[in-house]
Amino acid sequence: MSTTAEGYGILSGREAVLGTYAPPDILFVSGEGSWLVDDEGHRYLDLTSGIGVNALGYGNPTIHRAVRKALDSGLIHTSNLFRTEPAERLAAELVDATFPGKVFFCNSGAEANEGAFKIARKWAGRVGGPAKHEVVAFRGSFHGRLFGSLAATDRPSYQRPFAPLMPGVRFADLDDPRTWDDTISRESTAAVIVEPVQGEGGVRPVVPSVLRELRALCDERSVALILDEVQCGLGRTGRLFAFEHSGVRPDLLVLAKPLGGGLPMGAVVAQSAFANVMEPGDHATTFGGGPLVAAVARSVLAAIREDAFLARVRSLGERIAHCLEEAASESDAILEVRGLGLMWGIQLTDGAADVVARARENGLLVLTAGSDVVRLLPPLTISDEDLDHGLELLQEVLP
Ligand code: PLP
Repeated sequence: MSTTAEGYGILSGREAVLGTYAPPDILFVSGEGSWLVDDEGHRYLDLTSGIGVNALGYGNPTIHRAVRKALDSGLIHTSNLFRTEPAERLAAELVDATFPGKVFFCNSGAEANEGAFKIARKWAGRVGGPAKHEVVAFRGSFHGRLFGSLAATDRPSYQRPFAPLMPGVRFADLDDPRTWDDTISRESTAAVIVEPVQGEGGVRPVVPSVLRELRALCDERSVALILDEVQCGLGRTGRLFAFEHSGVRPDLLVLAKPLGGGLPMGAVVAQSAFANVMEPGDHATTFGGGPLVAAVARSVLAAIREDAFLARVRSLGERIAHCLEEAASESDAILEVRGLGLMWGIQLTDGAADVVARARENGLLVLTAGSDVVRLLPPLTISDEDLDHGLELLQEVLP
């Protein structure tokens, strides 16, 4: 067992953490750019970005400056009983970047999705009465681990031990619009929730025309369209928001992961007609939109929304596509490569976890997305050299 400078051992304390995760025996002590360093000084090139959170990499000076400036104000938290400037400014900036409406701030992706369900239900109750309360989600979806968001997540093994979950959730098939007709109902459906690029479900970009058809059906049947951009939003696909690829404007846009620059933050951007149904007391969360995290999020949003930043994400994405397509053409064990921007999945015949483990031994961190997909979510700020190096290391361990 090795120890950190302060004498903290890898195993000490580990047993005290609830066993819902199974991390490898590596203790990270610092990070810089796209690299993590463990307590023995080994360096790992990180193509996971903390599962899509660290969009600006480790030790980013923009984030550090924003944290320091916010700390200097003395305000980390005030509660939502009082107004603070960073949250109000961030809300205005998100509205400016999306569509006319209002923003609810919270602390995670799951919490943001649950907030979106509540807004959709209140709105639907007004237009269709109490029967109009169901949520329709899709096969392959992942929306979080709380009782409502888990109910809308297509992972029976995650759901089973915790039943009953939120009732009234039905699943349809994105590839088969005929299944939509039976599940999306004018009388009973409040909301449809969809990830424009399914992340945990295997990095599956939804075809833009499918999203447009879905939008049209939701309009026709007075159903709220929720786009969950927790993983694919905020620059990840090479556009500020993934919905820009299809031109489909959601009624409720859900954001989280990279928004807080590594601090916990989720947000629901609600179009005005939806935002306007919510009144004081309808929903709340103690920490949501605190001045420290909101100040940091403003700096993240400002960096990511720059045209040159997004253009670079798109060009790095082309570099990845080229490399992965070449790898796929040379291996029968790679069935497909999918993705856009800096969000990629490599569909194998099997054994994604083995590839992830071997990559880690090689000093490269990548993710799985299910049992047969290796997933790449590099920092959006990764250098050309680091990306090329990462792709070389990956090729060494791909079947
Ligand atoms: N929605 C999507 C698309 C996600 O990928 C995730 C997490 O991976 C969530 C929601 C849940 O976010 P959180 O873990 O912050 O609750």
